[in-house]
Amino acid sequence: ILVCGGTGCVSSGATDVFDEFERILNEENLSNEIQVVKTGCFGFCEQGPIVKIYPDNIFYVRVTHEDVDLIIKEHVIKGRIVDKLLYHDPIKGETESEHRHIPFYQSQLRIALRNCGIIDPENISDYIAVDGYQALGNALCDMSREEVINIIKASGLRGRGGAGFPTGVKWEAAYKNESDKKYVICNADEGDPGAFMDRSILEGDPHSVLEAMAICGYAIGSDEGVIYIRAEYPLAVQRLEIAIAQAEEYGLLGDNILGTDFSFRVSLSLGAGAFVCGEETSLMNSVQGLRGEPRVKPPFPAQKGLWDKPSNINNVETYANIAPILLNGSDWFRSIGTEKSTGTKVFALAGKINNVGLVEVPMGIPLRDIIYKIGGGIRNGKEFKAVQTGGPSGGCIPASMLDLKIDYDSLQAVGSMMGSGGMIVMDEDDCMVNIAKYYLDFTVEESCGKCTPCRIGNRRLLEILERITSGKGTEEDLGELKELSEVIQDCSLCALGQTAPNPVVSTLKYFFDEYEAHVKEKR
Ligand code: SF4
Repeated sequence: ILVCGGTGCVSSGATDVFDEFERILNEENLSNEIQVVKTGCFGFCEQGPIVKIYPDNIFYVRVTHEDVDLIIKEHVIKGRIVDKLLYHDPIKGETESEHRHIPFYQSQLRIALRNCGIIDPENISDYIAVDGYQALGNALCDMSREEVINIIKASGLRGRGGAGFPTGVKWEAAYKNESDKKYVICNADEGDPGAFMDRSILEGDPHSVLEAMAICGYAIGSDEGVIYIRAEYPLAVQRLEIAIAQAEEYGLLGDNILGTDFSFRVSLSLGAGAFVCGEETSLMNSVQGLRGEPRVKPPFPAQKGLWDKPSNINNVETYANIAPILLNGSDWFRSIGTEKSTGTKVFALAGKINNVGLVEVPMGIPLRDIIYKIGGGIRNGKEFKAVQTGGPSGGCIPASMLDLKIDYDSLQAVGSMMGSGGMIVMDEDDCMVNIAKYYLDFTVEESCGKCTPCRIGNRRLLEILERITSGKGTEEDLGELKELSEVIQDCSLCALGQTAPNPVVSTLKYFFDEYEAHVKEKR
């Protein structure tokens, strides 16, 4: 019996459901025969808590503490499916008993999330049973460091944390910089409002990240990894601590891994929740106990990173793709997605959408498929208005672009960005000027204040937006919004400031009539 232990389901009562299964199975003397496993996120948070029964492969949704007795008495003991707990498809008007028939899952392809909802994240044997640590074994025993880097380069994998820089090229740069000490860093400082991709991977499949960091360590010549994770993710922290201890116990982290001369250890560094610490050089400053402020680049982290040593930094989702690429080959990975954006991308679907949850789709999928096929359309039968991709640094994509194929370049071309994968959906009732103000309010709050264009420019932008939304704006304000946004984008030191005006610029471009309406309303 699998019970979703992801944060979404936990918040809707999964822990009580799990405890109740254990209690009743004990009472019925079934606990030796039937195992209850708390897994990572199934992705379908909207329908949580989710319970899956093997070997029948039956998928129950919105299970409550009170339903557990019924599942055990009816399904587990008598083999009868409990119809009232099956997913009801509102469009077909039918119930579905297996998750693969549910539209939410049908257009998805899970690589980074492959083990979430499948394995027990607190049991290394579960990970090993699904080929876990096989890629590390292959790399250490059969491949040179250059071969590992070449496979990652040939796969076309781009960083899933924001900028989309080619991962293999990054690894190669860190490999080429000779040093007595190098670091492998995992950026788990996911701070975008509405985003929970990295959190879910760490909660559901922590070993996939540890394995990839060890592979990276071997490739670039590093013996030390650091995971920078925000302290607001207690479940992910707890599962990582368990995973690190188990991997060390099994000889998969530590000295002389798998009997080779390669040694690699991983430690955690907890962040206090500053958005700017997701920027790679601020993150390194924070690990070193300094203020979380970006450094001027160059030098890049591959030259002078953590403690001024060559370092490779990737985010959680990027690492979660590494083992499947080594096991299946770069051609396999390139066969998924588009020419310049290979593989899949995990998105956190949130906002005014029916199926709030975590989804993984091939790059190049039309936005319409994400919103309507997977997301199930807009809540309460309302009209889709826009989607904000890339978090506070991204832009708003209007309904006229529903057929846009989602990849790094297409999003940038329309004034947004992939970012780490937040996707917040707006409906016909949302005021886009208020949305832009909301995001800017966030970035103003999170600016570290080191450079003037971001520290002062974004605050002035926010003041203009506040004037406009309170009916005190003027035509001149509209012109100034655009001009000031360009200055901030061009002159800020780091990506936080450079991208902060994106929600303003994109809403000015696609929803100018709403700005005008606010200004005219005043007259
Ligand atoms: Fe700090 Fe903003 Fe400048 Fe980045 S752009 S260094 S967050 S003030």
